[in-house]
Amino acid sequence: MKLRVAQKIRDTEAEGPGVRYALWVQGCTIRCPGCCNPEMFVHGKGGVEVEVADLAAEILSTPRIEGLSVLGGEPFEQADGVAELCRLVKAGGKTVMLYSGYTLAELREQAKTKPGVQAMLDVADLLLDGRYDATQPEKARRWVGSTNQQLHFFTTAYRPDEPRFWSSNTVELRLENGKLTINGWPAPADVLRQFLRSS
Ligand code: SF4
Repeated sequence: MKLRVAQKIRDTEAEGPGVRYALWVQGCTIRCPGCCNPEMFVHGKGGVEVEVADLAAEILSTPRIEGLSVLGGEPFEQADGVAELCRLVKAGGKTVMLYSGYTLAELREQAKTKPGVQAMLDVADLLLDGRYDATQPEKARRWVGSTNQQLHFFTTAYRPDEPRFWSSNTVELRLENGKLTINGWPAPADVLRQFLRSS
């Protein structure tokens, strides 16, 4: 099974609890105004296609990580591939956090006809749901982009009262092989990207 991947970072603390492997998938039809990843909108073009089993092996061999975060693009729009990847990563003892522009209610509706969507909901420890609203940046909850979004705790791997979910949001800058990547809290990360593009 294949998955189209836009970007990956092997160890980040800006995309969920602990040190995590972060994976951005290619393609999103939601297109929230102010989305900081517009280059990931188009399905079928951009990014690279990878074998899910190879990617799972790479993730599970990454030192220090406590889990996988899947962002986008829209992870639930490649549900079968993401579900299989998450199943393999979870079987390897890692946690799974999913980000989605769809609300949990919308995903439960989709799951009635799309088994991959249900499989993703079944395997996730955490889900951050809902459209990104650039006019309502979240300032209190870490790893949350805008105040309308909800973080759902599906398993006992994490608890909402853990202090790390309430500490300051972060932005990471990384220079690898001459390529600069910026990830983390969307609003300041986007300002930084625009500044770097114009300078
Ligand atoms: S759902 Fe996510 S990737 Fe899609 S447009 Fe909204 S913020 Fe961007």
